[in-house]
Amino acid sequence: MPNLKTILCKNKDKLPANSAPGVYKLDCSCGKSYVGETKKKISTRVGEHQRDVQNGKWKNSGVTEHCKDCNGNINWLNPSTLHQESRWHPRKVTEALEIQCQRTGPNEIGQMNRDTGYKLHSQTWRSFFFEWRRKQPKLKRWQNHWFKENDTIVPNQEEADVNDASQSD
Ligand SMILES: [Zn+2]
Repeated sequence: MPNLKTILCKNKDKLPANSAPGVYKLDCSCGKSYVGETKKKISTRVGEHQRDVQNGKWKNSGVTEHCKDCNGNINWLNPSTLHQESRWHPRKVTEALEIQCQRTGPNEIGQMNRDTGYKLHSQTWRSFFFEWRRKQPKLKRWQNHWFKENDTIVPNQEEADVNDASQSD
């Protein structure tokens, strides 16, 4: 006889994909990608992007702007949840990191984002990337990463400063 807790936990495990707040990635068949963040369900936010495209609201985001001039197809129905995160500050930081990591920022090869997101002390986040890749070494997305195999990680003060700043969130 299952109790309430097992039922709830079971349901939690069966949450459909992209049903949490967090950081996501949309890919276009032309090879470019867009990284976004939302406090809504990711599937909800992606649906909004798609409607913006259908309604010609090109200015609303980097991905809609891309659709104005590209004949490729966006994977609207199958976005990638990169990180589930409901907290504002960690979500913003994570988005900015992924924009760097996925190289979707302005003037990057995978460019679709109009800016680099939340202001970061750029190079100091290498240890984060290193940690992500260590956890999931086979992930395809590391292929584009600028991080070299034999780089060593030197923690530094700037990183600690940013962590401190998150306390004021
Ligand atoms: Zn495209």
